[in-house]
Amino acid sequence: GWFAKPSNTQNHTDSSHYLKDFLEEMKADKIREHLRKFTQLPHLAGTEQNLKYAEQIMKEWQMFGIDSVEMVPYDVLLSYPNESQPNYISIVDHLGNEVFNTSLAEPVPQGYEDISNIVPPYSAFSAKGQPEGDLVYVNYGRTEDFSQLQREMGINVTGKIVIVRYGKIFRGNKVKNAVLAGAKGIIMFSDPADYWADGIQPYPDGWNLPGRGVQRGNVLNLNGAGDPLTPGYPAKEYTYRFSPEDGVGLPKIPVHPIEHCFHFHFHLDNMGGEIPPNNWKGALNVSYRIGPGFTDEFKSQKVRMNIHTNNQVTRIYNVIGKIRGAQEPDRYVILGGHRDAWVFGGIDPMSGAAVVHETVRSAGRLLSTGWRPRRTIIFASWDAEEFGLLGSTEWAEDNARLLQERAVAYINADSAIEGMYTLRVDCTPSLHTLVYDITKQIPSPEEGEEGVSLYKSWHKRDNWTNDRDAPRISKLGSGSDFEAYFIRLGIASGRARYTKNTKTERYSSYPVYHSVYETFEIVEKFYDPSFKRLQAVAQVRGALIFLLADSQLLPLDVNEYADSLRKYAQSIAQLAQKNLVEMETYKVSFDSLFSAVENFTVAARDFHELDMYPLQLRIMNDQLMYLERAFIDPLGLPGRPFYRHVIFAPSSHNKYAGESFPGIYDALFDIQNSADPAKAWEEVKRQISIAAFTVHAAAMTLTPPA
Ligand code: GLU
Ligand code: ASP
Ligand code: CA
Ligand code: ZN
Ligand code: ZN
Repeated sequence: GWFAKPSNTQNHTDSSHYLKDFLEEMKADKIREHLRKFTQLPHLAGTEQNLKYAEQIMKEWQMFGIDSVEMVPYDVLLSYPNESQPNYISIVDHLGNEVFNTSLAEPVPQGYEDISNIVPPYSAFSAKGQPEGDLVYVNYGRTEDFSQLQREMGINVTGKIVIVRYGKIFRGNKVKNAVLAGAKGIIMFSDPADYWADGIQPYPDGWNLPGRGVQRGNVLNLNGAGDPLTPGYPAKEYTYRFSPEDGVGLPKIPVHPIEHCFHFHFHLDNMGGEIPPNNWKGALNVSYRIGPGFTDEFKSQKVRMNIHTNNQVTRIYNVIGKIRGAQEPDRYVILGGHRDAWVFGGIDPMSGAAVVHETVRSAGRLLSTGWRPRRTIIFASWDAEEFGLLGSTEWAEDNARLLQERAVAYINADSAIEGMYTLRVDCTPSLHTLVYDITKQIPSPEEGEEGVSLYKSWHKRDNWTNDRDAPRISKLGSGSDFEAYFIRLGIASGRARYTKNTKTERYSSYPVYHSVYETFEIVEKFYDPSFKRLQAVAQVRGALIFLLADSQLLPLDVNEYADSLRKYAQSIAQLAQKNLVEMETYKVSFDSLFSAVENFTVAARDFHELDMYPLQLRIMNDQLMYLERAFIDPLGLPGRPFYRHVIFAPSSHNKYAGESFPGIYDALFDIQNSADPAKAWEEVKRQISIAAFTVHAAAMTLTPPA
């Protein structure tokens, strides 16, 4: 039957029947109920309704019977539109008259007409202002798009307003690129090429983004800082705050998102300049000219942004629940996900929060049957994730000393679904084996796959063909609450959710992402009518925390880390090889890194259980727990002091993507165009030596202690 013997984890788990009970207790119908309950009203961070949901979650977790639940507040910088002065963008004529204005709100879906407190689409933390100027279209606003614009097309955007399409990268990176290029404003729109699936109706008849739907979202560049005014320290009442002008990561120019219909007005043959290369063209029936400005009779028209959004220190609330560990109460396994939503949060984040809720309920049931995990389990409902991962990062800052000594693993629980195709897992290499073992014990949620495991269903749909014959598992990037735990503190982390078929579905995230159309109904009608996909995700996340908390020997696979390090070392060395001449000239070598990887591989291979006396076990478990910590460099990456993991960081060009050996990668980036090649190659050498040292130091932690 299901949940029989996990192959690699069974050895050290004396409680597999509890695991089976735990997973079977998580019910699709209950997840449906939780989702229904927590998506009735808008619950933006800092609003009364989000506090009400926090109180309700706290009360219900207490009723579920876990040991303790508390509310943990912080006072952080949030950002809201000005209620008396709406944000919009206009096209103005030569007299300054507005000839066209963007909508002030999205049309509200049926059944929600009477609901108040729906925040209009905006870019959180935008600068205030009313810049006026000519438009320049810069595709997705990626680093390579701006390079192409400036270097190949010879267009300077200084003093211009840039318009970019959403997608491919985190929106905060687009804004950073626009500021660096000298733009005085940036407009973002959802192009149907990126937010429309063919053959699907717009919501409510299907799950596509309606023409007037808009993606909200923060436009910060925090680089892991958390609350912009209190970097490094928890944002309590007594905490010293920077003045708003000195806040971390705040954009210096106005930013605003618009519906794609409006983009039509800009481009319906009245934008001037060149026609861009084909890969800059989206799916609107217009020419996608680059500008600057308009053409012919429209030449005298300008674009004016009217942005009045305010930054405001606001109280937020995390809910923290605990189950005390029976044998190792000072070892923590964390399951955390955010609660705050842009509007209803039907998918993001409540599909994840409903799964956490069901996990807590099931854990409470198990406790009442006499089970208690070996280690402590911590459940978290984070606040203000949408404003820059604030709740989770402040709690990590508040508890940094405890966490660095005691945290075994962090499993993230943001949206549990973003597509209807198969599982998606991003995690640290040492969790690969556990994920595979677990998914072999969980049934596929797909219709017609009765008796098929999730592993098999996932493997069939997404084979990791380049590297191995197994389902694909990716590196962690960022853009959700695991960031402070993994990248700043060095705690083994992972995330799992249901996803789309990335080979055929080209749109970014999912079409209605961060719009008012993210309702309970979009999940119930389209994404997961039986709620079995959410149940499967609950079982994956649940089994991860169960086995991490309850296995005698921690189910972390150090050999997998060795394999990944080798792969990353090979790929970064290969990237450098593009500059053979310079490598010779400046005597750049990766030998030290490969030798460190070899040391690590040997140490990992020789690391296996000796005997199982309790102290011996504890020693080995500490080695396993602290392995991820060993990759932390207290000095952080260049210019990014809160990104401290030497093996993984969010890409400097896209916060959502993970980069391996980020220090070396960034040093090599665009080095062909460096103004001072000798200096640039010195930095590459310095970064290689930091990586080699760190891998070697980590290897030493796996060798016998004495
Ligand atoms: N998940 C949110 C988003 O993608 C916040 C991400 C972040 O600030 O890192 O908009
Ligand atoms: N849904 C995003 C992700 O997990 C994060 C967010 O927008 O909350 O990638
Ligand atoms: Ca802080
Ligand atoms: Zn989210
Ligand atoms: Zn979100």
